[in-house]
Amino acid sequence: MIFDLHSHTTASDGLLTPTELVRHAVNNQLDVLAITDHDTVKGLPEAQATIAQANLPLKLICGVEISTSWRNNEIHIVGLNIDSQNEALIQLLLTQEKNRLDRALAISDKLARVSVQNAYRGACDYAKGDIVSRAHFGRFLVDQGFAKDIKQAFKKYLGKSGYAYVAPKWCPIDEAITAIHAANGQAVLAHPSRYDLTATKLKALITDFKAFEGDGIEVSQSRQTLEDLYYLAKLTNEFDLLASQGSDFHGLTNYLDLGKTASLPNNVRPIWYNWS
Ligand code: AMP
Ligand code: MN
Ligand code: MN
Ligand code: MN
Repeated sequence: MIFDLHSHTTASDGLLTPTELVRHAVNNQLDVLAITDHDTVKGLPEAQATIAQANLPLKLICGVEISTSWRNNEIHIVGLNIDSQNEALIQLLLTQEKNRLDRALAISDKLARVSVQNAYRGACDYAKGDIVSRAHFGRFLVDQGFAKDIKQAFKKYLGKSGYAYVAPKWCPIDEAITAIHAANGQAVLAHPSRYDLTATKLKALITDFKAFEGDGIEVSQSRQTLEDLYYLAKLTNEFDLLASQGSDFHGLTNYLDLGKTASLPNNVRPIWYNWS
């Protein structure tokens, strides 16, 4: 069975529509795909409809990736098997959407000060859904010639040390976990190796995540070494958590393709162990 439990569509900053994504999943022979757009569940109905109408051999897991704030770090929490109609979850996502909009306007103001005009409108042209992400600003900056690629756009403008960095107002981790649980989902700490935390800080993060009743950790992810995979598996067991895997697919870029993460080590318990 091929599982990929972390992916994005045009509802947030992915490049494929929900329909294109589920078709790509089938082409890549996935059995189970979770769509986990940033702070939105609006890509799910189209994906569900396409699977049903075309009778695609794919199980869709309703998911979301919530941006949170922990000790001044941006930490992403993935919710899997959520009830996307749940009122508490919808309320949290509406607040996140509003904060995203405020941040986007502030980023645009800062960009104007370094002679990048109309960036908010520009970013919106790349955003196909309601979510305006820094990834959309990045695409705009590259296409307008302000950066040679997305990486440089983040380094120069959008990342923490960039000219146009605006600290986000994301919810705390426990609020995200509580909303995911209210929606009957499982909460997974996304891509733990990508936060630039020291080993001590990462353990402190997982300690808090566990205390807030988080369920699992993404052990197998994109952009990681084998050493990192085994280290995360060890931490997962140490904290008695479940293990997840996901490519964090955003489109056919040079990052990992859908369904191509390394297999989970045998000594962890997969997050799907009791899924029906
Ligand atoms: P946001 O959620 O609006 O803060 O935007 C963050 C998104 O931008 C992430 O989900 C990635 O898709 C993308 N991103 C973040 N950092 C980089 C980077 N250095 N290079 C390319 N894309 C990035
Ligand atoms: Mn993204
Ligand atoms: Mn993420
Ligand atoms: Mn992601």
